[in-house]
Amino acid sequence: MKGQTKYLLDENQLPKAWYNIVSDITFPVPPLLHPVTKEPTILPPPLFCQALIEQDETKEQYVEIPEPLKEIYQLWRPTPLFRAHRLEQALGTPAHIYYKYEGASPPGSHKPNTAVAQAYYSKEAGVKRLSTETGAGQWGSALAFACQLFDMECKVYMVKISYQQKPYRRSMIHTWGGNVTPSPSEETQAGRGILAEDPECLGSLGMAISEAVEVAATNDDTKYSLGSVLNHVLLHQTVIGEEAIRQMEMADEYPDVVIGCVGGGSNFAGVAFPFLRERLTNGVKTRFVAVESAACPSMTKGVYAYDYGDTAHLAPIAKMDTLGHTFVPAGIHAGGLRYHGVAPLLSALHREGYIDPIAYPQIPVFEAAVMFARTEGIIPAPETSHAIRAAIDEALDAKEKGEKRVILFNFSGHGHFDMGAYDGYFAGKLVDFEYPAEKVQAALCNLPDVGTTA
Ligand SMILES: *Cc1c(COP(=O)(O)O)cnc(C)c1O
Repeated sequence: MKGQTKYLLDENQLPKAWYNIVSDITFPVPPLLHPVTKEPTILPPPLFCQALIEQDETKEQYVEIPEPLKEIYQLWRPTPLFRAHRLEQALGTPAHIYYKYEGASPPGSHKPNTAVAQAYYSKEAGVKRLSTETGAGQWGSALAFACQLFDMECKVYMVKISYQQKPYRRSMIHTWGGNVTPSPSEETQAGRGILAEDPECLGSLGMAISEAVEVAATNDDTKYSLGSVLNHVLLHQTVIGEEAIRQMEMADEYPDVVIGCVGGGSNFAGVAFPFLRERLTNGVKTRFVAVESAACPSMTKGVYAYDYGDTAHLAPIAKMDTLGHTFVPAGIHAGGLRYHGVAPLLSALHREGYIDPIAYPQIPVFEAAVMFARTEGIIPAPETSHAIRAAIDEALDAKEKGEKRVILFNFSGHGHFDMGAYDGYFAGKLVDFEYPAEKVQAALCNLPDVGTTA
């Protein structure tokens, strides 16, 4: 026996509160700006319910998780923390590798941690329907699941290329009672405008956001829901790290490095922020590695600037690490890592030196995914596999240096609906996309003009 493999918390050990890192940082995080007036603003009330707007702004260190929501979390939380003994052995590393398994939720990723919270507060506020966008479908399926639990309607605009290529996530949305439309669509003014210019357009997240926002803005019974990037979304995800801290205590270890993949930044923030609290308040020297796709390198190659979140300029402008809102990344399989920007809170922490970003192309990422599946058994999502690549490289570096290093990564989701991507990898059909410097330069010319506030 190698010792413990799974560290499990009891349901009565579910965290009582989410952690708000804003209370512990000493530098200012630039405010959101109104897309038209360019003045500082909060999240727009027509799009979000009051409770979520308040959570986005709060300076309180902790926000209590309401009792009915904890009962829902109990469907899959607390999630297990695993020690990856067999991966360590295959690597021949003295490092200890731990992963927090968020694939345990019904939709198979971390996303329902915030989806159920957003549905709960919206339901409390009398909202009948939530509208949203989805890329590969993880967020759309998580929100459809959440709306079903609270007996609400769910309207999902799914990027058209994914709608065609990922039929099973679409089916999940249907199964959980959601309504899903390929974007750009004829249903909205934003969609009709895009299709008038390019009838063959296969869509992007920025376009789908514009459609979902428009539906919420023009219907009184509908609010908009975002699966990443915003402060309140990151807040809800901290339930991951709060559990992981207790589970690492059970293992009698503390991570030297905490790793997560970054699309908009929510699962990374979820695992990292509670450990970052220990660094901010107790000087604990943990490193935080944020892993992005080389095809969409917002943190490693982008600029820190005010930018629009969507192509139609309906959503507030945020100061963030960005590639420009008109940047359309290559069609990599990690659909969840294709957003042009990164959460403002994460971007600010990055610029203050708390986070080390790294970018990987997809072929070495799939190599890591297959190694993980063949040693640990679980087949990871392509997004998650970016974090696995980084964890493996940390373990190999520790081996080279003869160091015992404790590595924790967040396993953001399983890859059961991404097997087409694995088929492509085994058939040698994946391509490593080069960083398209000219494309980014062109996109950066379209940043909003916000004068001296930037
Ligand atoms: C959506 C998604 C991501 C990326 O989103 P973040 O907000 O950066 O966490 C990563 N992994 C999985 C499995 C996802 O579904």
